[in-house]
Amino acid sequence: MPFLNLGLCHSITQAIKDLGYTAPTPIQKKAIPLILSGKDLIATAQTGTGKTAAFVLPVLERLNKDRKLRGKRIRALILTPTRELSIQVAANVAEYSKYLNLSSLAVYGGVDSEPQKQRLIEGVDILVATPGRLLDLAHQRALHFDELEVLVLDEADRMVDMGFANDIDKIIERLPESRQNLLFSATMNDDVRAIASDFSDSKMSNPAVEIAISPKATTAPTINQWLITVDKDTKSALLSHLIIEQKWDQALIFIEKKHGAAKLVDQLAKRGIKAEAIHGGKSQAMRESILADFKSGKLKYLVATGVAARGIDIGSLSRVVNYDLPFKPEEYIHRIGRTGRATALGEAISFVAMGDFKNLCAIESRLDHIIKRKEIAGFPVRKVVPVSILNYVRKSKAPSKNSANKSGYRKDKNIEG
Ligand code: AMP
Repeated sequence: MPFLNLGLCHSITQAIKDLGYTAPTPIQKKAIPLILSGKDLIATAQTGTGKTAAFVLPVLERLNKDRKLRGKRIRALILTPTRELSIQVAANVAEYSKYLNLSSLAVYGGVDSEPQKQRLIEGVDILVATPGRLLDLAHQRALHFDELEVLVLDEADRMVDMGFANDIDKIIERLPESRQNLLFSATMNDDVRAIASDFSDSKMSNPAVEIAISPKATTAPTINQWLITVDKDTKSALLSHLIIEQKWDQALIFIEKKHGAAKLVDQLAKRGIKAEAIHGGKSQAMRESILADFKSGKLKYLVATGVAARGIDIGSLSRVVNYDLPFKPEEYIHRIGRTGRATALGEAISFVAMGDFKNLCAIESRLDHIIKRKEIAGFPVRKVVPVSILNYVRKSKAPSKNSANKSGYRKDKNIEG
């Protein structure tokens, strides 16, 4: 189904076309018609599903119909948990509304509020805000909510986790009773439902519709994931150490390059560990024989390049090691999915060197959580790998110039009060 059939005006569909979106995502297909019909909505959808456009596009359509804007007034409010998300959502709003005569602004803490107040003097159609700064501005009478038409709570579960439930209550108290409410959350729990019930209270005659988009393929809870930060030149010593010290019964070890695989097998052999490698450079017969040995348990440690390992299906593999971290998050999920199958418990260990930092950010953003880190005595790192930033956007995906620094990842994950 193309965007054209969703009931959005040409100026919006053209902006979307310019961005290369050809068809709506599942959340967009479900949410856009409901929002356009004026319904309140409670949607369970994770980042990456296209949820931002799912609420921004119909809100733009609504606001564009009948534009009247007075000074210090806002017509739509999008609340987000973090500064970086505010910036990102505001950048999306600007892109989607580029052919419309609608104004938008992001306000968040940690920066001078004066320019934000100046921008609010004329009034703003769509304000994207973190709760703390919004309340500050409201207390200072820099903006008024009496003409607000739509409230959006984005990543409501994260706002609750970050302790914003009270601030959200205070904000909702200030809003006009008659408004459209949209709540988006990656997960649903009682605290999020408590916020959602505020919506229904204000409009009993128009109960909120609930929709859920099944989460993206993610990792099984039976997989114990952890990582070790390591310098490149100590990786093989660390692997040998873990195999011996932790008495690993079995490990499928992923490595980037085929010559690296052969070298690692030699390095392990020098430390008394028998491993074999499969990679594209080995004959099919050799690969099959090695794989058969690994499956039967005759061979305990198998070093494989990503390509060669495709199609390996081993019933109850107890451990996967990312000796090199994959570039794509999907590859990470796929690799570690070879362990912890069904109800079996599995372990997925990643070696992360400084050069892997961006890949780590991408993987953890995709998982939507930070992977637990372990330190191994005797293996201090010279190059410390920083804790990564969730909501990481690769440079190739063209993050807005405000939201990312030159290397493509956000400098800090500021949490705004
Ligand atoms: P979100 O879930 O809102 O964080 O969006 C994830 C990514 O999907 C963003 O980079 C959007 O630009 C992109 N996106 C949103 N809707 C579409 C679509 N219909 N087609 C292609 N990409 C989209």
